[in-house]
Amino acid sequence: MIQSSLLNRQTPTVIDGRKTAARVLSDVKARAIGLKARADVVPGIAVVIVGEDPASKVYVASKARTAIDCGFHSVTYPFVESTTESAILDLIAQLNTDPLIHGILVQLPLPPHVDAGKIIQAISPEKDVDGFNFLNVGRVGTGAIATAFVPCTPKGAMLLLTDFAGKDLSGLHAVVVGRSNIVGKPMANLLLAANATVTIAHSRTADLASLCRSADILVAAVGQPELIRGDWIKPGAVVIDVGINRVERAGNGKALVGDVAFDEASVVAGAITPVPGGVGPMTIAMLMINTLGAAELLCI
Ligand code: NAD
Repeated sequence: MIQSSLLNRQTPTVIDGRKTAARVLSDVKARAIGLKARADVVPGIAVVIVGEDPASKVYVASKARTAIDCGFHSVTYPFVESTTESAILDLIAQLNTDPLIHGILVQLPLPPHVDAGKIIQAISPEKDVDGFNFLNVGRVGTGAIATAFVPCTPKGAMLLLTDFAGKDLSGLHAVVVGRSNIVGKPMANLLLAANATVTIAHSRTADLASLCRSADILVAAVGQPELIRGDWIKPGAVVIDVGINRVERAGNGKALVGDVAFDEASVVAGAITPVPGGVGPMTIAMLMINTLGAAELLCI
């Protein structure tokens, strides 16, 4: 059993997301080569981006680069900010029936005049590699995880956690801070499916610090730089920091930090993911796995 060993570690482990992502991507490349040889199918991904948000542009470029590197067919569809909802829906309808495309991703956020929910739900569930379509959300929520496209960030966070702590989290209390549909809620469902006892905390939770102190597994998906302090961590706990926050450091320019105060938390935790280099690299790796999975499903 992992429980006692997990909570009695003397030296904290820094969980290396870059290393795990590289291992995953190497496996994806090998499987893509196998799929081409076996069925003459090349996994194809379409990424739709609307507007000029600099962070979104960086993410999209990185996704396209990684897809090419995995041997995939990759197409990016950039739309100007003023594009109409119906123009995007038309493209989605076309991609849904495009035999060369197995995964469709619409980069969020979308401009306010476009109903993001409507766009996401228009993506065919079989090509919904972000896992945001109601069918895939429902599968994850009912424990039918093997048949679902699981959202990439919680899927990657879960892989880092289970690589370290094992697949069965029986007897462990997991606290997920954040209840978004993209991270917090699916993460809670994945932890529940792995037999953890799960509490979801959010902006209206009372005494968050005490609740966090009761967590054997603490997942932070908040978007508040270094909200979670070292004295909020149970000694030996596994801390998975999903947060990515850009902050100004006095005299030091901009820096990326997580939702957890890493320097304080890492001396208390049994294991912790850093920012950057923790959950971040896993998200794109999981997108590649999901796209490959969508292409492989066609060939069964
Ligand atoms: P979100 O804004 O949709 O949700 C944030 C959640 O945090 C909400 O449920 C809110 O109730 C809760 N919250 C806000 N302030 C709080 C407080 N003071 N105390 C307790 N709870 C509070 O954000 P999201 O999309 O879930 O993203 C969360 C973080 O994860 C962000 O920093 C985001 O950049 C990061 N993120 C990282 C990746 C990645 O690839 N690593 C992917 C997605 C999101």
